[in-house]
Amino acid sequence: MVAKLPVQSPVLTAVGLAFFALNWCNPLMAQIEYLPGIQWPEPKVVSPGDAHSPPSDAIVLFDGQDLSAWENGGNWIVDNGEAVVGKGDIKTKQGFGDCQLHIEWSAPTEVKGNGQGRGNSGVFIMDNYEVQVLDSYNNPTYFEGQAGAIYKQTPPAINAMNPPGKWNIYDIIWTAPRFDDTGQLRSPAYITALHNGVLILNHFELLGDTPWHRPPKYQAHADKLPIRLQDHGNPVRYRNIWLRELKPITATQLRPPVFYNHDTGEETPVE
Ligand code: MG
Repeated sequence: MVAKLPVQSPVLTAVGLAFFALNWCNPLMAQIEYLPGIQWPEPKVVSPGDAHSPPSDAIVLFDGQDLSAWENGGNWIVDNGEAVVGKGDIKTKQGFGDCQLHIEWSAPTEVKGNGQGRGNSGVFIMDNYEVQVLDSYNNPTYFEGQAGAIYKQTPPAINAMNPPGKWNIYDIIWTAPRFDDTGQLRSPAYITALHNGVLILNHFELLGDTPWHRPPKYQAHADKLPIRLQDHGNPVRYRNIWLRELKPITATQLRPPVFYNHDTGEETPVE
């Protein structure tokens, strides 16, 4: 059965608006305000940056100069403001947990190979969880292995790939998995990601790590681990890599929430 939407008559709408206006303006009617009773810290001021510069509170991992923030960075080539995949994976010297990660990459301009052999690299968050990097422009492969996939767990929602030689942008929001003292999973990892500004992963719950040879599983690890970029034998290029560490807002419940009557000063507890 198809549910019928209520039809709002113009007359009723006018009556409702008039009632609202009277209620709001009438000094005889009490003005009741909801007061949550929470003291919030003031949000820090951050300059948002632009296409060429990161937000002011970002940790810059590669700005085109060198790979000094990365282990094994000496075995990749830095040229013309770009880092080209060389020998072996590179990983950040610093570890990260919850974060916002911005990373730009380009598949090789010269198209070579096909499927998983074409423009393959990968962004491993916390060293274990791969967001696939692949030349997925007219390059069929298994869907959970194409660009923007959580490797072997889910395809991206759509394929927003730019052609080989053009830059792609991943903007990733990452919530790290939590483990208790005995190593049991307390909460899984979640990822939201945009590929060239288009949503590809929306709060996806990861099933575990992302190896190619076995099903995913969680294994307890540190709260913070490096970002790792994969050497899969293809000269994929990277630039403009930055990250913002994310922390939950901590607030203080100063008093229980109340309804406050502006006319009488009376406070009524919120049930
Ligand atoms: Mg890969």
